[in-house]
Amino acid sequence: MKLTFLGTGTSQGVPVIACPCDVCSSLDYRDKRLRSSFLVEIDGLTIVIDAGPDFRQQMLGACVTNLSAILLTHEHYDHLAGLDDIRAFNWVQKKPTDIYAEERVNQSVREVFSYVFASKKYPGIPQMILHPIDEEPFMIGHVHVVPIRGLHYRLPVLGFRIGKMAYLTDFNSLPNTELEKLKDLDVLIINALRREPHVSHFTMDEALSVISEVKPVYAYLTHISHQMGRYSDVEKLLPDNVFLAYDGLSLVL
Ligand SMILES: [Zn+2]
Ligand SMILES: [Zn+2]
Repeated sequence: MKLTFLGTGTSQGVPVIACPCDVCSSLDYRDKRLRSSFLVEIDGLTIVIDAGPDFRQQMLGACVTNLSAILLTHEHYDHLAGLDDIRAFNWVQKKPTDIYAEERVNQSVREVFSYVFASKKYPGIPQMILHPIDEEPFMIGHVHVVPIRGLHYRLPVLGFRIGKMAYLTDFNSLPNTELEKLKDLDVLIINALRREPHVSHFTMDEALSVISEVKPVYAYLTHISHQMGRYSDVEKLLPDNVFLAYDGLSLVL
């Protein structure tokens, strides 16, 4: 299984004009973050988790030419706004793209991309099949996917476990009932927005406390705001088995 961080940033705290802060003006490529998205290559399948506004750029950057499925964690714009660009995959693969999300999230997709679901279809529009999922494990081909329930303030969101990897983003609480599903992980990926408290996202300390409960072999932080600080400074504050993720980072399990 090959894992690639396509993006590790967030719309939260993204300035609309050039930001003069230490992170936004840094020349370190690890401080340049597109919106969070994650690529899992397993058993000949290419699965992308979340398709935010940077989706097209991320697919080109990672040379993804064949997309098996997209999993959506929740309906916020930074996680689904790029879905229109699946049309290139529809064209090349000559089939609709399979999308897996909770029914509430599917409903948002139907509203945001209403032209995709119109009865009279415009030629060339994206084609997608929305597969409703809940907290029950499901299969994509031979790949077993276990949804992990979290809360994003009051909004229920889903993380996903595939094999010995779990990807959780936009959580700010993890119910105890989910801990069992996160046992025996090689890699836990978990969101950490910044060091100061936030109403709907884990802070660095909150993410570290989940990591110390779950006890994966390694953990990577993602969905990082520029308020977190520079990669080279933050990395020094983390335990030996925990790392800040950055765009383009790949891991092989
Ligand atoms: Zn969100
Ligand atoms: Zn987000």
